[in-house]
Amino acid sequence: MTIRGNVLTLRYYVYTEIPDPAEEELMGPGLSERVRERVVAIRAWPLWELPLWLKAYIVAIVTVNFALVGLASQAGLGSSRQLLLLAALVACDAATVELTRRAGENVVVAKDVHGVWELPVAILLPPMYALLVPILRFTLTQWRVKRVCLHRRVFTAAVVGLSYGAASLAFHEITGSPLGLTLTPGDHASTWILAVAVAGILQWGINTGLLLPAIKASDPTMRLRDVVMAREAIQNDVAELCVAVLVTFALAVSPFTMIFAVPFVTLLQRSFRHAQLVNASRIDSKTGLLNAGTWEREATAEVARAVRTRTPLALALVDIDHFKAVNDVHGHLAGDKALRCIARTFRIFLRDYDLVGRFGGEEFALLLPHTKAVDAYGIAERIREHIAAMPIDIDGVPGTGPVRVTVSMGVAALGVQWDASTSNQLTDLVAAADRALYQAKRAGRDQVCVVTDTAVISSPEQASRFEPA
Ligand code: GH3
Ligand code: MG
Ligand code: MG
Repeated sequence: MTIRGNVLTLRYYVYTEIPDPAEEELMGPGLSERVRERVVAIRAWPLWELPLWLKAYIVAIVTVNFALVGLASQAGLGSSRQLLLLAALVACDAATVELTRRAGENVVVAKDVHGVWELPVAILLPPMYALLVPILRFTLTQWRVKRVCLHRRVFTAAVVGLSYGAASLAFHEITGSPLGLTLTPGDHASTWILAVAVAGILQWGINTGLLLPAIKASDPTMRLRDVVMAREAIQNDVAELCVAVLVTFALAVSPFTMIFAVPFVTLLQRSFRHAQLVNASRIDSKTGLLNAGTWEREATAEVARAVRTRTPLALALVDIDHFKAVNDVHGHLAGDKALRCIARTFRIFLRDYDLVGRFGGEEFALLLPHTKAVDAYGIAERIREHIAAMPIDIDGVPGTGPVRVTVSMGVAALGVQWDASTSNQLTDLVAAADRALYQAKRAGRDQVCVVTDTAVISSPEQASRFEPA
């Protein structure tokens, strides 16, 4: 598992010469000018904007990794046979990076199959390589696949390196083989395989544990069970680990088996990528919410279920007030930031099974199963209040204070008397919510209006008097 980040191209030059001003004039933009530009670029690194604890955490992880590389290098470079195996494994790892080039990295936490090549490195080669090979892999990814914030790449490489370093130590501890030397499976193949599996599980645990604080800091609304413990994520990790154990075993017996592993690993990589692309096609890339098509498909099924089982359900349409003015005054990037902050608010306030979609440009649709009109009103009010009070910081525009936006919400609720014979239940519900939204806009914006098949609510007083059917 690796963290991906926003695209940011960074180049870092160190100059030692002081330029001659006359030469500078002849050569166009002078050295000092370029040095100044670089200093400005370095000052703009997103790393500096991180909270102090996170900066300290990243620096600590990277420092420990490099200190351990130094320490591990004292165990020697390994035999020529090991160096040959290292070259072959690094080549396979690099080929796997190349395979991801066309698909790119389009998700925040991506699953890949590098473990299939990196676990054998940790088990069969001196521990220094377990720490170094991930650094090589991430350098190649940064160069060939996608440029992201440098600190993310360096940090992730250090975490992955540390986790494989720990796997290497654990394996040698279990099998009793001295560091740098690996006993071949021989008569104790089952114990040997088990030791590799335990080392692999340990690597997974340490990698995940060390990455989590950074993942959580990059998006506080991200939940552990969505990122690490989701069924698909676990299935991928288990598949990767099992193949990695098999390949390690086969390579310990004969490095020649690598030729037979490559096509299989390529297929595995492709199947992981395919699942990620299918997932990505459901999502609106700007906000991370469901896109309109997916929302509609899933909402249709949810509404039909609610009608069939006669359970309450509510739908809210949310429209940002005077959003065009936000774009006109602060620019589209600020507008986009506002969209993302609002999407994050929905994730904070709503439950796992609520369907949250980006309906159009600055309109969102929230489907709340098992929710009565009066409760939907309460939820919508809390969301509206939170958004109205939420400062949206605009990065990179000095002197501008935070932007504030408000939203209007129209809520329609399905009562128990809803006609089960109506064919287009979702369309009817959306139309009702749209009418409620129009009322909220007309009544002055920054408010919630609810219609049910039995009542209309547009104030807390009405909500408190409302007795759902
Ligand atoms: P009202 O209160 O009546 O809803 O006014 P409004 O300005 O929000 O409504 P209008 O429909 O006139 O404008 C919607 C604006 O939303 C226009 C468009 O530029 C902006 N918008 C739509 N999609 C995006 C987007 O993805 N990013 C940004 N930044 N703006 C967007
Ligand atoms: Mg609109
Ligand atoms: Mg609007």
